Amino acid sequence: SSKLVYPTTEEELRLAVANANQNHLKIKVVTKFSHTIPKLACPSSEQASKTVLISTEHYGSSIEIDKVKMEVTADAGVGLRDLINKVEEASLSLVASPYWEGVTVGGLISTGAHGSSWWGNGGALHDHVVGLSLVVPGSALEGFAKVYRLESNDPLLKAAKVSLGVLGVISKVKFKLEGAFKRSITLNFTKDEGIEDEYMEHGKKYEFGDIGWYPSAYTAVYRYDQRLPLTTSGDAVNDFLGFQSQSVLVSSATRAIGIVFLISPPKCFRQLLYIPIYIFQHV
Ligand SMILES: Cc1cc2nc3c(=O)[nH]c(=O)nc-3n(C[C@H](O)[C@H](O)[C@H](O)COP(=O)(O)OP(=O)(O)OC[C@H]3O[C@@H](n4cnc5c(N)ncnc54)[C@H](O)[C@@H]3O)c2cc1C
Repeated sequence: SSKLVYPTTEEELRLAVANANQNHLKIKVVTKFSHTIPKLACPSSEQASKTVLISTEHYGSSIEIDKVKMEVTADAGVGLRDLINKVEEASLSLVASPYWEGVTVGGLISTGAHGSSWWGNGGALHDHVVGLSLVVPGSALEGFAKVYRLESNDPLLKAAKVSLGVLGVISKVKFKLEGAFKRSITLNFTKDEGIEDEYMEHGKKYEFGDIGWYPSAYTAVYRYDQRLPLTTSGDAVNDFLGFQSQSVLVSSATRAIGIVFLISPPKCFRQLLYIPIYIFQHV
């Protein structure tokens, strides 16, 4: 089977890449979550002994905030929730974020994880990256691996940001921040008539707006999602059920019902066909 290593510092990460380079091993970076559904890149299924998995599970201790520049630099293995908590403690906010927080900084940047917005720099987290460090193979003189520090003006930064884990191992990511803010979210369930025209106005009006479309039910769920000052009172609860933990009984029952529906789908089952419409720009 493949060898698995757990670097805890950037230097240990560099040594892991150097060792793989020196011994002609293929590398796959894995995270503590591994929440991407497609494999994206598999080092080698035939010659496991010629591959090494580098896990960022224990490489997530550093989150450095520069309050003056309004930037945060985090180790690749830092989880999104830990990053958000640290940034908010400093009265700052990440502008964009995916809907799901079970992701690492390295994983979300590699896959282009996004929320929904075409305001400012947009709703994808990589649109707010202003620096990134990448560990790549090097010559023998360089110790078989080296660290590239890419700053915001570096033309390589765009390629390195959404690199699907194939350009090198991301060791650190630097994000631009803004002053802390809250978000207010209201869901409006309505008919889907005119959705093709409405989404433009919706995106212009609500900074983080999106639309959930249930075409078979002729229903659209407009998400009115916008920023509010920190002083606004609220319950600070996101009650979206989709990503919350559920009891095993509930999920087993849902799966059992799902199997019955697949064998003989009743009309209402068609309502479960759901198309999320995110609004964000391409860079
Ligand atoms: C329930 C759920 C909800 C989701 N919601 C959203 C959403 O709202 N918006 C959205 O955009 N996405 C969403 N996703 C997708 C998710 O954002 C991505 O799959 C994300 O990449 C997962 O992060 P991870 O840390 O688990 O990365 P992994 O799945 O472990 O890795 C992703 C890829 O990046 C590579 N990689 C990881 N770390 C590094 C590194 N340090 N250096 C180089 N390569 C690296 C890996 O080799 C792999 O190819 C969701 C996924 C789930 C399961």
